[in-house]
Amino acid sequence: MNYHIDRSKWQKPSYGGHYDERATEYEGIRCKCQRCEVSFVFEPEEQKRQFESLGRFPFWVPGLCASCQSEWEKIGPKLKRFEAAWQNKKLEASDQDELKEWLKLIEQSTSYRKKDYGSRANMLRKLLSN
Ligand SMILES: [Zn+2]
Repeated sequence: MNYHIDRSKWQKPSYGGHYDERATEYEGIRCKCQRCEVSFVFEPEEQKRQFESLGRFPFWVPGLCASCQSEWEKIGPKLKRFEAAWQNKKLEASDQDELKEWLKLIEQSTSYRKKDYGSRANMLRKLLSN
């Protein structure tokens, strides 16, 4: 199965990314998972989807293998919920159990190299030590 490159669907058609101007088909790109360091292939079909449908720049590569990515997809939304609850003051310093849970998720998230939650983690550690 070939996956034809349609540059007109790229966010910036003049920017080649992984491909020079003569390339006509997506090719598998070997990547290394930033978390578990397993080697995996960024498949042509997935590249077409990312670059032509989802609007990613064509130099992007996934940072996580499929299994780490699916683990992250369980953790990421929970972190967002905690963050939103905190911002909306639905979560407070007295909710120690919740804060512990939040800190645990942040500590897990660092291995996924997703986002630096360092200042949040420090804040929570301070609130929890009181
Ligand atoms: Zn992995």
